[in-house]
Amino acid sequence: MWKFSFSPLDRQSHCRSDETQQAKWRAQDNVKLVVFNEDLQLLMSPDGLHAANAAHHTNAPDQQHWLYLGHAENTPWFSAVVDSHDFELSFHQQWKSLRLALPLIAEPYASTIAYAKALHYWHQQHQYCGRCGEPTEIYSAGHELVCSHCDSAIYPRTDPAVIMSVTYKDELLLARQSSWPEHRYSVLAGFVEPGESFEQAVKREVWEESQLKVSNVEYLGSQPWPFPCSIMIGFTAEASSQNVHLLDQELEHAIWVNADNFIEQLESGDIILPSSGSISYHLVEHWAQSLGLNIAKYKH
Ligand SMILES: [Zn+2]
Repeated sequence: MWKFSFSPLDRQSHCRSDETQQAKWRAQDNVKLVVFNEDLQLLMSPDGLHAANAAHHTNAPDQQHWLYLGHAENTPWFSAVVDSHDFELSFHQQWKSLRLALPLIAEPYASTIAYAKALHYWHQQHQYCGRCGEPTEIYSAGHELVCSHCDSAIYPRTDPAVIMSVTYKDELLLARQSSWPEHRYSVLAGFVEPGESFEQAVKREVWEESQLKVSNVEYLGSQPWPFPCSIMIGFTAEASSQNVHLLDQELEHAIWVNADNFIEQLESGDIILPSSGSISYHLVEHWAQSLGLNIAKYKH
C-alpha cells in the first residue's frame, strides 16, 4: 500500500458534536496533539512527529481550538494550529514543511498528519462565508464551519484528481514537467472537472496532455494527497497508438519505456522514479511487475 492510506483512527463522527465528551478527551492524560504553525508547517522533534504529551506542554494551544481527529485504540488524537511568533520551541523542536516532514514520518502517523493538515487547510480557506462574506465559526470539533451571519454550513472538501498509467501493448508512457528535478518522470495526472466521471477525466486528461485516445480504463486504487487537499484516484488505461503530441505546456517531455530499455534507463539515471510513497510509483511498479521487472532497487 502507499503512504497516507493507513490512518488507524476511528473518526467517531457521531461524537464530534458532543462537547462534554470532547472536553473529557482533550483533558485525558494520554491525549495526542499534532501541532502546526500558521503556514501549516509541522512541529517536529529529532525523532520524528512531536505529538506525545504535547497537550501538557506549557505553551500548548488553547484546547477550545483543537480539532478532533479520532481515536487509535484508547488514545484520542487532536490537532491545532498555533501562531509561531507566540509559540516557544524547545531547543530540539523545529517547524518543518509537510513535504520535508512526511518522508521522515513512518506510517500510520504520516496518514494522520496528512488528514490533519488537509482539515486545517480547509479551515484556512473558509474563514469567511462564501455566500455573504462574514466570518465562519467552528462546530463539530472542527468538522463543520457555520457562518456567523447567514448560518450557512460548510463541510470539509477534498479535490479529486485522476492519475493513470497509459500503456500501449507492453510499453508504458512516462512524462515529465519542466519544473521537476532533472530526469524525474512519472505517469499522467490531472484534476477531475465538474460534471465528469473519473473515467471521463482519465480520457480527457490523457487526450489534453498527449493527444492519445485511451480505452479500458480500470480503477487501481486511491491515495489521499495533502498537497494541499487532494485525493489521487489511480487507473490503468490502454492507448490506441503511440503517437504522442505534447500540447499541455506543463509537460516538457514524454517517453515510452519497455521491458528492454526501462531497467537500463533507471540504472543510468536517465529516468528517476517518482517517490516510493506515491501512488504514481505504484502505478509504474504495477506495470513493471506485469512484465516480471523488479524496480525495487530504484525506489527512493
Ligand atoms: Zn454567510
